[in-house]
Amino acid sequence: RRPNVVVVGRPNVGKSTLANRITQQYADGAIVHDEAGVTRDRTYADGWWAAHEFTVVDTGGLVFDDDAEHVFMPQIRQQAIVALRDAAVALLVVDGQAGCTPLDTDIADFMRRQRVKCVLAVNKCESEKTGELQAADFWQLGMGTPHPVSGIHGTGMGELMDALTAPL
Ligand code: GDP
Ligand code: MG
Repeated sequence: RRPNVVVVGRPNVGKSTLANRITQQYADGAIVHDEAGVTRDRTYADGWWAAHEFTVVDTGGLVFDDDAEHVFMPQIRQQAIVALRDAAVALLVVDGQAGCTPLDTDIADFMRRQRVKCVLAVNKCESEKTGELQAADFWQLGMGTPHPVSGIHGTGMGELMDALTAPL
């Protein structure tokens, strides 16, 4: 089995856009399998980068309650734990235009407890000039190098893919 790259982050940061970018640009874009029941929100698609083959798991509605700001819903959190149990590496996505939010901090704390190697993507950084500055705000998460990217435009994807596949 290929190693799983599990995409996590608060809603609307661009997880699905990035997951699609990875699997469409660097793979055939086919959804290879879906799991039944509670995992309905997860989609799996194969990807590769250099010599690395992997499966991207988009955790969709994973993780948090949209309405209750930074309240962690227990059953949803449980689902995150299930997805991450199988993760070779997690791609933590944040929003470079919004900057670092308390919810991002909560998720980073949560990810640290999961003991999964995490790579940090600062999405919505369309401009390479301002992207570095936008990304710098996320050093405070303590999740290593923040990689500025744009899932929509493809900016910064090469460096992100290098970082993401390094642990595989
Ligand atoms: P998810 O909820 O984390 O899966 O986020 P989505 O992928 O559904 O994207 C949420 C919103 O952010 C949508 O309106 C996207 O068009 C927008 N978005 C995603 N990626 C980018 C990006 O790279 N740049 C900008 N400006 N917007 C983006
Ligand atoms: Mg999504």
